[in-house]
Amino acid sequence: MVRSHSFDKLLELKREKVMATVHRICAKRGLPLPSINFEGCVEEFEGQLAHYHPDANTICISERQLIIQNFDDLDATMAHEVSHILVQDHSPRFREEEVTSNMAGWKPPGGIVHITEWNKSAIEPNKEREIKPDMIRCNYHFCRKKADLTQCHHCQNYYCEVHLEPYEPKLGFHPDSTSNSGHPCAPFVDYLADKKKAEDKRYAEALGKLVKGKRETVSNDYSYDYAPSFDYSAYTHVISNNEHEPATPKSNRNWLILLVLVVALFLIYLFFIR
Ligand SMILES: [Zn+2]
Ligand SMILES: [Zn+2]
Ligand SMILES: [Zn+2]
Ligand SMILES: [Zn+2]
Repeated sequence: MVRSHSFDKLLELKREKVMATVHRICAKRGLPLPSINFEGCVEEFEGQLAHYHPDANTICISERQLIIQNFDDLDATMAHEVSHILVQDHSPRFREEEVTSNMAGWKPPGGIVHITEWNKSAIEPNKEREIKPDMIRCNYHFCRKKADLTQCHHCQNYYCEVHLEPYEPKLGFHPDSTSNSGHPCAPFVDYLADKKKAEDKRYAEALGKLVKGKRETVSNDYSYDYAPSFDYSAYTHVISNNEHEPATPKSNRNWLILLVLVVALFLIYLFFIR
């Protein structure tokens, strides 16, 4: 099946929406963040909107369901699945938790004031019901092997050697259980985004410095036009040096400072002699 770019884009947005909603509900309710499996699951039965694996703290939602459900449906589905972290059946107690999760997942549209005092206690973190991650079997959905497990720094789940490496969860990627290494890790995406932001910032700073340096050079060249009798020997040395091997920014800077000083002295000299 050939899929259009906009179709893939929409699925990508839905996937982000699902992760954001789960993040929001878990953060507000103080629940352990589950992994989200978009890669398909053998345990899914037809017509199921999504399901939750308590042993792996994983929510599975298939691509098919991602296509069928709209953004509001996805919010409701995720509120339901996150509530299964607390209660596994569909008892009245579960329905209460589901209502609370729906509230916690609700994001007011821009311009609406969120009244936080209202039923605040219901969405306050619930420490006693915290769930411990499975530390015996690999938390990767398709693995579940009993092995020596190591905790992922990003999602805090436990994985065997093969599945420890985190990767960005991708749509339309169906691993055939054992042949693939690594685990889809939603918090890893945030980590990559933060890292990229830091790199971009460093790059922008370096560029800023470079541009500033260029400007200094230009203004110096300009001064030379008005100081034709200046002894160039020192300067030509730098130029010839630059032609063969670029001077390091630091030595360049020292030369510039020296030049500015010499030119300034020369101009003062000219001014007072005349
Ligand atoms: Zn599943
Ligand atoms: Zn359910
Ligand atoms: Zn992870
Ligand atoms: Zn594994």
